[in-house]
Amino acid sequence: MAASMYQRDPRAGLFLGGARVSGTEVRDQNVTACQTVSNILKSSLGPVGLDKMLVDNVGDVTITNDGATILSLLEVAHPAARILVSLATQQDKEVGDGTTSVVLLASELLRRANELVHNKIHPTTVIAGYRLACKEACRFMADQLSTKVDKLGRDAIINVAKTSMSSKIISADDDLFAPIAVDAMLAVATVNGRGEKKYPVKAVNVLKAHGKSARESFMVKGYALNCTVASQAMKTRIQGAKIACLDINLAKQRMHLGVHITIDDPEQLEAIRARESEITLERVRKILASGANVVLTTKGIDDLVLKEFVEAGAMAVRRCRKEDLRRIARATGATLVSSLANLEGEETFEASSLGYAEEVVQERISDDELILVRGTKVVNSSSIILRGANDYMLDEMERSLHDALSIIKRTLESGSVVPGGGAVETALSIYLENYATTLGSREQLAIAEFAAALLTIPKTLAMNAAKDSTDLVAKLRAYHNAAQQAAPGDPKRALMFYGLDLLQGDVVDNRAAGVLEPTMSKIKSLKSALEAATSLLRIDDSITVTPEQR
Ligand code: ADP
Repeated sequence: MAASMYQRDPRAGLFLGGARVSGTEVRDQNVTACQTVSNILKSSLGPVGLDKMLVDNVGDVTITNDGATILSLLEVAHPAARILVSLATQQDKEVGDGTTSVVLLASELLRRANELVHNKIHPTTVIAGYRLACKEACRFMADQLSTKVDKLGRDAIINVAKTSMSSKIISADDDLFAPIAVDAMLAVATVNGRGEKKYPVKAVNVLKAHGKSARESFMVKGYALNCTVASQAMKTRIQGAKIACLDINLAKQRMHLGVHITIDDPEQLEAIRARESEITLERVRKILASGANVVLTTKGIDDLVLKEFVEAGAMAVRRCRKEDLRRIARATGATLVSSLANLEGEETFEASSLGYAEEVVQERISDDELILVRGTKVVNSSSIILRGANDYMLDEMERSLHDALSIIKRTLESGSVVPGGGAVETALSIYLENYATTLGSREQLAIAEFAAALLTIPKTLAMNAAKDSTDLVAKLRAYHNAAQQAAPGDPKRALMFYGLDLLQGDVVDNRAAGVLEPTMSKIKSLKSALEAATSLLRIDDSITVTPEQR
């Protein structure tokens, strides 16, 4: 049954004021909106895709070619186009990459489905055909096109990272960044309760530092904080660290603004001042009494209390970023404490709020003084210190690195990869075309359209690389057809891994060339694109419900 984009029904006595568009017209409108969005993204697909510059209303500039970022910054008003925006956001959250591809695919699927509907095929039949095609495609991809990472080794993971980086700002230095990203992810491996290895992306801390060139970026094991100890006299290395993570101001307590106290003796004023300092001192003593030897706080620490830390042989760091402390707390098993007061209103600090790490040390690494928290108890951490000329560059580098880290995570966790550069899409397209002809039902047409829609990826890749897309895609299709016609064991089967070489404008074995992507990411994009396209296809009525007039 087709769904409608409104909830209120006039027959139920509800107000229904605005315009109503139904049937073919609403589908056409939705298709146009989605085409508009995908046309914006189209030119940024692939390693030679172009960037977009987005300027917001206060003049902040973002330069990026990451699909999810572009769409999240655009103010998309059309409800159908907004579905595509949320599709990209979802893909970014779940997979981390493939955001541009998924939007292009979804809008192409929708456009072709709409043409079928114009040719009097019922949307339900189209949806059924699409679903069948997607199921078959995923099966074929997992069975025939994917290769286990164990077989290919660490180089394969580095290649996956390089492929993800290839369309990004850091592509020129991927020989440096790909191993950094892979090592950072391998360093945070943890085993969960079910004995599965997990690689949490959040355990990798990315620090951005202005100045120097991108090539001077580096990775360290442990969580790096861009801070220094609060006093020169403090220890700079603590073994067996018991860490207190605080969101408390340890500066001298001052009375709140607007508080009036009338005193008639100067000594009373002195007493108030002394008490103000004492409150902080008592807090520090309570924290140190819990056994803490490293105190990290997001706020200030008064110089008057620094002596306490020095005498206790503890390290104190002020003005840490809250997000950093949250993550350190998670990694070390600490609790981020925002108030010392308990339910009775007394101030205490429990030892159970402390986190543990093998070592906390202040080190000078390539001209930067950093605090490193190593050997965190709960989750291992690693940090990547990015260097770049300005904020725009650093932000885009961080986004690119985040994509690469997510892709490495997917590869390590799912353990299988497929060749990129349009290889998978072409192979699936040929397979589905042949599969469609084996079916005697009307879904055949939808499956054939699904097959044709997949080719939008290799076509766009070739076009963006200023190559002849018709020639290249025809050649690629011929290779894949030969591979799929060949019997198992025939050397021609290896043609299955052929994809586009966008620099030379040729067709090459992308598995051998190291253009690899995680199987899971491709399967996920197919499924998400299908979901988005079908949910839009199901709409046959759009009603703008204007707010009730009072
Ligand atoms: P997305 O946001 O969808 O990840 P990208 O701009 O990162 O978009 O482009 C990804 C596409 O580029 C994938 O289809 C991938 O196979 C292809 N690709 C990446 N690197 C290469 C390469 N070196 N040669 C050919 N194709 C590549």
